[in-house]
Amino acid sequence: MTPVFHALAPASAAYPFLRKDSHRLLLLQGGVIALAGVLPDLLDPHTTLQARHVSFTHTLAAWAGFSALLILPAWKFAKTLPPSFWCIVSLSYLSHIFLDAISGGVQCLRPISSVLVGGPYVPFRYWLWCDVAALVTAYTLYRWLPVFRKRLSGKPQLR
Ligand SMILES: [Zn+2]
Repeated sequence: MTPVFHALAPASAAYPFLRKDSHRLLLLQGGVIALAGVLPDLLDPHTTLQARHVSFTHTLAAWAGFSALLILPAWKFAKTLPPSFWCIVSLSYLSHIFLDAISGGVQCLRPISSVLVGGPYVPFRYWLWCDVAALVTAYTLYRWLPVFRKRLSGKPQLR
């Protein structure tokens, strides 16, 4: 999958579980989740799709390390964001490994095992369509829906 899908798919999937009392906070939460979703590729950029097979950032060990580091922001921002949000951020990183596993495979058990987990279940020709669907969904949830809700709440109620 492309970085666009890695970022937007978990941000859209997490939308129902995010705080929506402030649009700025909603965008911040979605942004952090999107960043976590694309982080394995940002930490270990590669030019070939095959290179991700051996990337350490695409392993369960890297996910565990990333999740452990989330304790720091979870403690720092405990009054603003609940612990469940940081669990979602952790799952967003894990979703990257899963999505790469179903779109080619990753050696996610390294350094214990170098077995390739997954395979090309989502062929490359569908990736662009996945990106388009993710873009439309994310725009609808993070831009269009808040505006629609605001307009609805601003109108006088009919009796
Ligand atoms: Zn990747």
